[in-house]
Amino acid sequence: MSDVYFIERDPYAPIRHCYPVSKVLYEAKSEYQDILVFESPKFGKVLVLDGVAQFDEKFEFIYHEFMAHVPLCAHPNPETVLIIGGGDGGVLREVLKHPEVKRAVLVDIDKEVIETSKKFFPTLAVAFEDERTEILCEDGFAYMQRHKNEFDVIIVDSTDPVGIASSLTTEQFFKYVYEALKDDGIYVGQTESIYYHLEIVRKIQHELKKVFPVVDLYTAVIPGYAGYWWTISVGSKKYQVREPLRELKAPTKLYSADMHKHAFLPQSFYKKLLSGE
Ligand code: SAM
Repeated sequence: MSDVYFIERDPYAPIRHCYPVSKVLYEAKSEYQDILVFESPKFGKVLVLDGVAQFDEKFEFIYHEFMAHVPLCAHPNPETVLIIGGGDGGVLREVLKHPEVKRAVLVDIDKEVIETSKKFFPTLAVAFEDERTEILCEDGFAYMQRHKNEFDVIIVDSTDPVGIASSLTTEQFFKYVYEALKDDGIYVGQTESIYYHLEIVRKIQHELKKVFPVVDLYTAVIPGYAGYWWTISVGSKKYQVREPLRELKAPTKLYSADMHKHAFLPQSFYKKLLSGE
């Protein structure tokens, strides 16, 4: 085991999550954030943005599978999918496992993250070359304002809701998301840890409820994120999302129809969590 550790600079967590480091592979400063890639003996390569680990190669599949397959399998025919953020390509790779998807648009503010992924994480960047993929490098908030009634599913895979990503969890952003979705569209976004970021989870759920008729929350245990028990918030215009409507035929490591149902918190606990009782 290495004696050198990367210690995460999570702006909210009261503890510091860390990874053993065997080799630093890349360090750069893009226009928007600090980028670091290192090799960790037990976890493979790790991507860090502004001091916060985004994923490690060993466990990235958990987050990416649950971000993509829950909303896509809860929709009867997800032909057009938008990903905001997600410049590493992990969510895109999972989205394109659905043959129903005819068009997948990825909008990440930082082209350097996309380039870094192509160079160091080819198993995530694999879907960039798919003919259904369109990649744009711009702010997701600005992009969303210009699009109406266009997407079946919108997935927001952004960095933590501070700095460049802070606009992506506001009521105004959710109004734009609502308008950019078709009449039966579904939104999901990563909303941090139940243990360490509960106030953020509650605030985002509150904003979503001002805009969407169906709001829910599901979770996944992600060993690479501080607090481990991670939340993903849902806003849906029509469908309840707790049960999959379609079966995914492509191989996954963890996601299945059973795991889809189990990812949702029991209603009693969900209500208690949000009310703070
Ligand atoms: N799963 C990761 C996590 O939470 O640790 C997120 C991964 S992905 C690399 C996050 C991406 O969001 C970054 O590439 C970043 O450039 C992008 N991003 C942040 N704010 C954004 C914005 N306003 N518009 C578009 N992309 C944004």
